Amino acid sequence: MTGITILGATGTIGLNTLNVISQHREKFDVIALTAHNNVDGLLAQCLEWSPRYAVMVNPHAAQQLELALQQAHSSVQVLTGVEGLMQVATLPEVQAVMAAIVGSAGLLPTLAAATVGKRILLANKEALVMSGQLFMDAIHQSGAELLPIDSEHNAIFQCLPLTFRRTQGLEEVGVKRILLTASGGPFRTYPLAKLESVTPEQAVAHPNWKMGRKISVDSATMMNKGLEVIEACWLFATTPNQVEVVIHPQSIIHSMVEYLDGSVLAQLGNPDMRTPIAHALAWPKRITSGVPSLDLTQIAKLEFEPIDMTRFPCLRLAYQAMQAGGTATAILNAANEIAVQAFLEKRLQFTAIPEVIEKTLSAVTGRHASHLGMILEDDAHAREVASNFTG
Ligand code: NAD
Ligand code: MG
Repeated sequence: MTGITILGATGTIGLNTLNVISQHREKFDVIALTAHNNVDGLLAQCLEWSPRYAVMVNPHAAQQLELALQQAHSSVQVLTGVEGLMQVATLPEVQAVMAAIVGSAGLLPTLAAATVGKRILLANKEALVMSGQLFMDAIHQSGAELLPIDSEHNAIFQCLPLTFRRTQGLEEVGVKRILLTASGGPFRTYPLAKLESVTPEQAVAHPNWKMGRKISVDSATMMNKGLEVIEACWLFATTPNQVEVVIHPQSIIHSMVEYLDGSVLAQLGNPDMRTPIAHALAWPKRITSGVPSLDLTQIAKLEFEPIDMTRFPCLRLAYQAMQAGGTATAILNAANEIAVQAFLEKRLQFTAIPEVIEKTLSAVTGRHASHLGMILEDDAHAREVASNFTG
């Protein structure tokens, strides 16, 4: 049995992970489940899964959960705060950690799991965007396994040969470039002039994927694809100019790898996160995920379009931040989190999201980060600056 901690158990990825595990209860021992402040959600999961620990980051919500568990005569131990997350990410009885907290809040526990050599199933792309070099150094030093959950990166991982080693790079296995597919989100063909007045409800209504609110807005601005370009550079030890984004509205091809000889390998499947989750849970074996078979005759056609950077300035900003290196990507991520939050709270227009990010990137200079403290410092500074730009 694999002992597993699920960070962000009540989110979309967390729920899909438990769905896959529920199909293979004999293979996985759920040791810890975590959430931010969703008491009812985590309580229901604790009663079903009887983990050893439940972490509720918000202390008030943790008290409520503890009380409810006592009333239900449950022996689940409740922890709280970031310390609680770090503790369950590093327990000796845990072999695998699903990193599915949204945003920068996932950084510390995910990094902690990397430092002690766990198998990390990485959905929390923001952690890698913030601390790429330090994170990958921690992985290499501890010998941790890093398996991508993001559907595109999971697809790329599946299209690479087993002989691929991050320390040697893509050239070593004959890869010319990565083709990262993007659905284009809900506003791919929306009139440009009307973009500034779109609402959060319109932005989170993704045509192909059901996701949390933050990543849904990121998909609408294409910052999600920008974060994924950065994620791909770190995961596959490559540079942004080797990662090309191509619009593929059907979300059936999850990404592709082009080799030197002209071969292009793709991974296809229905747009359902249970496929990459099951892949990473069982790797290098395979298990069922509950995802229905792909019916290509039903889909009938797969389309591709070039990316329009004027429609999606966030993608251009992400490429620029990755080219700049150092803490520029942490600054980009921080400004994006502030701007998206302001948009979701209806304090900022949709088209102002890239403006806030661009202004923050100009105001806060990135630098090489030799330790985590520097990243957290630039992250905090960028949040402060971006908050001023959101009014
Ligand atoms: P979600 O909003 O549905 O869930 C987020 C989870 O994180 C919840 O369990 C919540 O309790 C927890 N959380 C939120 N704020 C927290 C905080 N401050 N401290 C601790 N925990 C906190 O998000 P999601 O869609 O499941 O996405 C999770 C991560 O996976 C994101 O980084 C996202 O980019 C990535 N991802 C998601 C998908 C998808 O299809 N949903 C696909 C690829 C990658
Ligand atoms: Mg993705």
